[in-house]
Amino acid sequence: MPLPENFQREVLDALNRKGISPGCELCPANSWSVADQAVTLIVSKLDGRMALPPPNIPSAALVCNNCGNVRLFALSVLGFMDPKGGDAK
Ligand SMILES: [Zn+2]
Repeated sequence: MPLPENFQREVLDALNRKGISPGCELCPANSWSVADQAVTLIVSKLDGRMALPPPNIPSAALVCNNCGNVRLFALSVLGFMDPKGGDAK
C-alpha cells in the first residue's frame, strides 16, 4: 500500500475534516507529531490459530509531543484505503 508523499499533512487534514478533538486526553498539551510511516496492528484470533499473513489494521500514529501518548487511526476510515482491502488513493 503506497502512502502519499504528503502522508502526514493528509492525515491531519482527514482528522480535521472529522472534527477530532486535538487536546491530549492524558496531559494538558495540544502538540502532536504524525509518524511519517503507517503503523500496523497485528490482529490475533481468539482461537489461537495463526494466519499468514496475519490480519492487520494499517493505521496512522499521532504522538503527543509532551507525554508520548500515542493515538492510532485506521487508514481505511481516514480514506487512505478501500475498507475491503485495496488502496483508496
Ligand atoms: Zn499528552
